[in-house]
Amino acid sequence: MITDTHTPKSGSLFVIVAPSGAGKSSLVAELLQQDTNIQLSISYTTRAPRTGEVDGVNYHFTDVVNFLAMRAHGDFIESAEVHGNYYGTSKTWINAALASGKDVLLEIDYQGAQQVRAHFPDMVGIFILPPSLEVLKERLESRGTDAPEVIATRLVNAKIEISHAPECEYVIINTVFSTALTQLQAIVHAARLRYAVQLARSPEIFNPLGLS
Ligand code: 5GP
Repeated sequence: MITDTHTPKSGSLFVIVAPSGAGKSSLVAELLQQDTNIQLSISYTTRAPRTGEVDGVNYHFTDVVNFLAMRAHGDFIESAEVHGNYYGTSKTWINAALASGKDVLLEIDYQGAQQVRAHFPDMVGIFILPPSLEVLKERLESRGTDAPEVIATRLVNAKIEISHAPECEYVIINTVFSTALTQLQAIVHAARLRYAVQLARSPEIFNPLGLS
């Protein structure tokens, strides 16, 4: 368990992007288990819940009319249509979480990541690559949660998503889960050591040293 007794005044923003089936959700779940200083944003979506998914835990499930009303009202810091459904990240939640000093993690698609970067240029973009398209297909099929036509759409979209990997600062190739998790933790640790983050966290050390 990683705990941090120093609370930075403004948290870091991690944005994880990956094609579906790359193992992103499992990596994030394990990271959050081990690092209590990261808060996961729960997105809004018009997608129907999968078996086992809980409203308010996995997503805020909503309908198209309500989603579009929220979007028109400016409630989302980013929103996108992915695989035929709408997804969006709450603007109020993300601003409050960062201001509280917690690190924030978003699991969103490349369109959303582009919009978030426009607001937060210092965000840390992390792309999770599968070792190959064949492995990605196998993982989607073995998951058993989506119909064959849904999987086919996701594979087409996976190639588009992968083409946006160069927009991220970091890339993890998820061949072996434990290795990928260690790499994800290393990125989080390194991001917390950036000058601006350290300065915000420890002004009592920096300022007497003539640093600001
Ligand atoms: P799934 O339906 O499999 O949970 O997610 C499908 C895709 O939607 C994934 O690529 C996921 O990262 C993306 N996604 C989930 N939440 C959001 C969000 O709030 N905004 C955007 N832009 N994409 C999201």
